[in-house]
Amino acid sequence: MLSNEADDARERMLSSIKLLRGTTCRCGNMKRPKMALCLECWYRLPGRLRCRLYGRMGNGFESAYEAACQYLDGGKADDPQH
Ligand SMILES: [Zn+2]
Repeated sequence: MLSNEADDARERMLSSIKLLRGTTCRCGNMKRPKMALCLECWYRLPGRLRCRLYGRMGNGFESAYEAACQYLDGGKADDPQH
Protein backbone atom coordinates (compact mmCIF):
# COMPACT_ATOMS: atom_id res chain seq x y z
CA MET A 1 0.00 0.00 0.00
CA LEU A 2 1.28 3.39 -0.98
CA SER A 3 0.12 5.16 2.15
CA ASN A 4 2.13 2.81 4.33
CA GLU A 5 5.25 3.56 2.37
CA ALA A 6 4.65 7.28 2.69
CA ASP A 7 4.11 6.95 6.42
CA ASP A 8 7.28 4.98 6.70
CA ALA A 9 9.27 7.61 4.82
CA ARG A 10 7.80 10.40 6.91
CA GLU A 11 8.58 8.49 10.07
CA ARG A 12 12.19 8.04 9.05
CA MET A 13 12.52 11.67 8.06
CA LEU A 14 11.11 12.81 11.39
CA SER A 15 13.59 10.71 13.30
CA SER A 16 16.39 12.14 11.16
CA ILE A 17 15.27 15.67 11.94
CA LYS A 18 15.13 14.81 15.62
CA LEU A 19 18.57 13.28 15.39
CA LEU A 20 20.06 16.29 13.65
CA ARG A 21 18.44 18.79 16.00
CA GLY A 22 19.65 17.01 19.10
CA THR A 23 22.86 17.87 20.90
CA THR A 24 23.72 14.40 22.17
CA CYS A 25 25.57 11.95 19.99
CA ARG A 26 24.64 8.27 19.97
CA CYS A 27 27.79 7.66 22.04
CA GLY A 28 26.64 10.08 24.74
CA ASN A 29 29.04 12.91 23.91
CA MET A 30 27.84 16.41 23.14
CA LYS A 31 27.45 17.15 19.46
CA ARG A 32 26.55 20.18 17.45
CA PRO A 33 23.01 20.53 16.18
CA LYS A 34 22.77 19.78 12.43
CA MET A 35 25.55 17.25 12.72
CA ALA A 36 24.70 13.58 12.83
CA LEU A 37 27.54 12.66 15.18
CA CYS A 38 29.98 14.21 17.63
CA LEU A 39 33.41 15.07 16.24
CA GLU A 40 35.00 12.05 17.88
CA CYS A 41 32.67 9.64 16.09
CA TRP A 42 32.86 11.72 12.93
CA TYR A 43 36.64 11.42 12.75
CA ARG A 44 36.46 7.68 13.27
CA LEU A 45 34.44 7.31 10.10
CA PRO A 46 36.15 6.59 6.80
CA GLY A 47 35.86 9.32 4.19
CA ARG A 48 33.30 7.53 2.09
CA LEU A 49 30.87 7.27 5.01
CA ARG A 50 31.34 10.94 5.86
CA CYS A 51 30.53 11.84 2.28
CA ARG A 52 27.37 9.80 2.46
CA LEU A 53 26.28 11.55 5.65
CA TYR A 54 26.30 14.82 3.75
CA GLY A 55 23.44 13.40 1.72
CA ARG A 56 20.13 15.10 2.13
CA MET A 57 17.51 13.73 4.42
CA GLY A 58 15.28 11.26 2.68
CA ASN A 59 17.93 10.89 0.02
CA GLY A 60 20.38 8.50 1.54
CA PHE A 61 20.99 10.10 4.93
CA GLU A 62 19.11 7.44 6.85
CA SER A 63 20.98 4.54 5.32
CA ALA A 64 24.26 6.43 5.64
CA TYR A 65 23.62 7.01 9.33
CA GLU A 66 22.78 3.36 9.77
CA ALA A 67 26.00 2.36 8.04
CA ALA A 68 27.96 4.81 10.18
CA CYS A 69 26.45 3.35 13.37
CA GLN A 70 27.31 -0.14 12.22
CA TYR A 71 30.84 0.95 11.46
CA LEU A 72 31.26 2.62 14.85
CA ASP A 73 29.76 -0.37 16.67
CA GLY A 74 31.56 -3.10 14.82
CA GLY A 75 34.71 -1.39 13.67
CA LYS A 76 34.47 -2.48 10.07
CA ALA A 77 30.86 -2.91 9.08
CA ASP A 78 31.42 -3.39 5.39
CA ASP A 79 34.60 -5.38 5.59
CA PRO A 80 33.67 -9.09 5.60
CA GLN A 81 37.30 -10.03 6.27
CA HIS A 82 37.13 -8.61 9.74
ZN1 LIG B 1 29.83 10.32 19.28
